[in-house]
Amino acid sequence: GVFPALGGTDSSRSWFERAQRSLAGGISSSSRLTSTGPDPYPLYMSSGSGARIRDVDGNEYIDYLISYGSAVLGHASPLLTNALTEVLRTGTMFGTCNVPEVELAELICRMVPCADLVRFANSGSEAVQGAVRAARGYTGRSKILKFEGHYHGWSDTLAISNRPTAAEAGPYDTPQSVPHSPGIPQGVVQDVVVCPWNDPAALRAVLDAHRDVAAVICEPIVANNACTMPDAGFLDLLREECTARGIVLIFDEVCTGFRTGPGGAQALFGVVPDLAVFSKALGGGLPIAAFAGRHEVMEPLARGEVKHGGTYNASPLCATAALVTLRALHDPAVTKRIDETGRRVMEAVRRAAHDSGVPCAVQGVGAMFQVVFSPDGTRTRQYRDLLRTDRARYDTFRHELLKRGVHTNAYAMACWFVPATVTDDDLTATCQAVEEAFKAL
Ligand code: PMP
Repeated sequence: GVFPALGGTDSSRSWFERAQRSLAGGISSSSRLTSTGPDPYPLYMSSGSGARIRDVDGNEYIDYLISYGSAVLGHASPLLTNALTEVLRTGTMFGTCNVPEVELAELICRMVPCADLVRFANSGSEAVQGAVRAARGYTGRSKILKFEGHYHGWSDTLAISNRPTAAEAGPYDTPQSVPHSPGIPQGVVQDVVVCPWNDPAALRAVLDAHRDVAAVICEPIVANNACTMPDAGFLDLLREECTARGIVLIFDEVCTGFRTGPGGAQALFGVVPDLAVFSKALGGGLPIAAFAGRHEVMEPLARGEVKHGGTYNASPLCATAALVTLRALHDPAVTKRIDETGRRVMEAVRRAAHDSGVPCAVQGVGAMFQVVFSPDGTRTRQYRDLLRTDRARYDTFRHELLKRGVHTNAYAMACWFVPATVTDDDLTATCQAVEEAFKAL
């Protein structure tokens, strides 16, 4: 079809004005307040098909947000629509055990190296909470080590040092634990120890200073730090140190899971954690999450000593959506295609940046990546490197893409997610928009 340019967004503006009178802040999730278009209000999306979405003004975009990686098979995937229509006819939720949850758990155990046993939840935040509970229950310890800038959801438990300012962050190798929001109790903050990413010496020093750590949690590819990659050997070091100290290693694979390959980041890097957390691509666009891990660590939960519940956990509706999605992603050809598509976009960005003389780094893997306007075009290795990048330039870049019909993540510190349904035409249009956006910078 004809490649669209952004027309007006007046309907989005009036919906936002109306929303502010009944929805707190006009939004349903804090991050959406900053998800603005070129104008200072969010875009209201109304429908999608394949890799494309439409807003309420009728503008069409090729979508590289895909609900933060969730709609991995594209919007309104016929595979999902057919399966879910059947579930709508026969009952969506019973609050009881059901067949699709069993088949789904079996498939996850086959696909994910660390998964001997699985539990389901409804969102990444919830499943992280479940994994942390399991780790604390298993070890009898309470402290959690997290890495500066990594994101593990909005819960009190771990909404700490997500995006501290340089002034808040404290000394480099012993960062402050900075609550992300008022309302997080100091007692909870004290149980979270923060460490810089990709620094073996700092990690060992922090672990030496805190002998009562139950779990180390990380994003193996830091989707929420512009896809900062782990240095060679760093994930192996985490594995060794956790094993030596009896600490549970948790990979938060909410973004990487089933997207960077059928076995997620743990298969990609060949490092097997004790527990892993999944959501987003797992549900293909419906709300479901899981935590999964080794027998021994999941055993107190399996015995019923460690508690975890949820009315909506693994409802037939969401378990079926996940089953259909994972059966598709189980085929390595699907994730390979996602990776190759993403790499072609990454290449287009590098070429356009080079031709226009704009220094930037394109980092991550094909399935998830980000464009980082660092002063000298170098990649970021840690959260604090991101504080030195030009995030205003990212906003301009993103707005230039939006005007040319390409929809990406609003956060300079987050990333692009590639759906399996990008067509050759979509790809050509994306690369052309990228080239023009760089010219406009
Ligand atoms: N972990 C990671 C790595 C995430 O990216 C997110 C969400 N962006 C979460 C956890 C929390 O998931 P949710 O928003 O579904 O609660």
